[in-house]
Amino acid sequence: MTYVITRMCTDCVDMGCVEVCPVECIYALKGEPSESTPNMLYIHPTECINCGACEPECPWEAIYEDMELPAARAEDAALNALTEERPSLFEVAAMPRDEHGRLVHKPAPSTDDVRANKATWGVAE
Ligand code: SF4
Ligand code: SF4
Repeated sequence: MTYVITRMCTDCVDMGCVEVCPVECIYALKGEPSESTPNMLYIHPTECINCGACEPECPWEAIYEDMELPAARAEDAALNALTEERPSLFEVAAMPRDEHGRLVHKPAPSTDDVRANKATWGVAE
């Protein structure tokens, strides 16, 4: 078992998950995103210690245990596995900070925003 970030994170990347991960196993792309490597964060399946801390922190409800992935997002486990298979594409994700070094958090999405984002990626409530 491991945890998986799904495409519901795409373009959100507010990093709430990164803030709580105790082992820095959440990665960001080094270069430009593409269809096969979208602009989202990725969990390294071997480095993840399955603590579950990130799942409730994600305001977009984009994180699942691999065994609990919605059918429409089952393919996203393979996306996360790219961190192991093609490590040169990734770097450990870092929390954004302002000019004073304070952590920057994005505003939380509304319930409707979350529902609409899930629907975009084929996940019903
Ligand atoms: S908290 Fe959720 S939406 Fe934000 S970067 Fe992490 S997985 Fe993506
Ligand atoms: S389950 Fe724990 S170790 Fe794995 S990515 Fe989430 S916070 Fe990090």
